[in-house]
Amino acid sequence: MAYLNENFFKLKAGYLFPEIGRRVTAFCDANPESAKRLIRCGIGDVTEPLPLSARDAIKAGVDELGTREHFHGYGPEQGYAFLREAIAGEYRERGVNVADDEVFVSDGSKCDTGNILDIFGKGNVIAITDPVYPVYVDTNVMAGNTGDANENGGYEGLVYLECNEANNFVPAIPDLKVDIVYLCYPNNPTGASATKEQLAAWVAYAREHDAILLFDAAYEAFIQDADVPHSIYEIEGARECAIEFRSFSKNGGFTGVRCGFVVIPKELMASTQDGEKKPLHPLWNRRMSTKFNGASYPVQRGAAALYSEQGKAEVKALIDHYMGNAKILREACQACGLSVFGGENAPYVWVKCPEGVGSWDAFDKFLNDSNVVVTPGSGFGAAGEGYFRISAFNSRENVEEVAKRIAGLQW
Ligand SMILES: *Cc1c(COP(=O)(O)O)cnc(C)c1O
Repeated sequence: MAYLNENFFKLKAGYLFPEIGRRVTAFCDANPESAKRLIRCGIGDVTEPLPLSARDAIKAGVDELGTREHFHGYGPEQGYAFLREAIAGEYRERGVNVADDEVFVSDGSKCDTGNILDIFGKGNVIAITDPVYPVYVDTNVMAGNTGDANENGGYEGLVYLECNEANNFVPAIPDLKVDIVYLCYPNNPTGASATKEQLAAWVAYAREHDAILLFDAAYEAFIQDADVPHSIYEIEGARECAIEFRSFSKNGGFTGVRCGFVVIPKELMASTQDGEKKPLHPLWNRRMSTKFNGASYPVQRGAAALYSEQGKAEVKALIDHYMGNAKILREACQACGLSVFGGENAPYVWVKCPEGVGSWDAFDKFLNDSNVVVTPGSGFGAAGEGYFRISAFNSRENVEEVAKRIAGLQW
């Protein structure tokens, strides 16, 4: 009999979204009339059509594959040079030093943030924020980097960095030493962004303790304030302590197309068990060469098109649309006296439940009284209790309707 990976049994059975689905289905079955006006503001998926520049480039890429002269088979596992150059070139345009061959193109950030654990050894002390994007936690559970879940839903062996109102949802620097820290800014689910000073403090911590920051910048394109960093590498010294993850899912609407990338600077080192420092770049290169055969050619053409003049204008229009939605949602919640966070540099509005109302109570109230699906904050971690998340990924019409319904809610 083959043995299975028992770490999977430690996972809490995908609690959040199945439970939301169960409650929404039960409500719709019981209230078929209300079900017709249901608006979903729960899931973090884009809603607006794929930019024309990307569609044209993808189609042209497919047509090339249909000719003998321009056929492409397996491409470079690290991504085509045209895309790596476009990506690294944009960093350099912003004054950030990233070389073309430090960029590794993939089929998205969810895979990358999970797969990155392949190049780290056993015994690392791993810190995650609370609340958190669940992928960081569950991939560590699967890899055997944690103990069992405790009754609060936390895992033994992980260090939880609480994000709350007092620290503006950017965790305080811990007073213990950790080896790997996951940071996501602008943040899903809180919609918070991190200032240059806050990120500099994390870079200083990482350098002092030889820790590595895994920086998820999936939402960088949503940043509106000029002084909020788009990349961890805008912080001096970050090339020696950080890996950055980015994705075309949210800026270019690529959630269904699939393309993202990882940046691993060549200076970035980690230690052998014997205390010898070695670079991580060759390990990830080897990992990708062995376990990945490259993102599809037409898709990489589509991603590269987002860097064209037309592509940039189309991405900006998408961002303006979603951030316009976020503003409407923020104002609707504020107008009825709720405390609102996020939604200024990220497409998520993070709302504090009224006094005495729990995350799931707020979810049920929205569902029953407004027929709107939000996400209960407690689903993202214990520190998310007492909050709910409203996603700005929607049509303007739906968002305006949701704003009206929020105004009509009696808490
Ligand atoms: C949406 C999202 C991503 C992007 O994931 P893809 O696999 O590239 O679609 C990455 N990180 C966070 C926190 C996200 O919310």
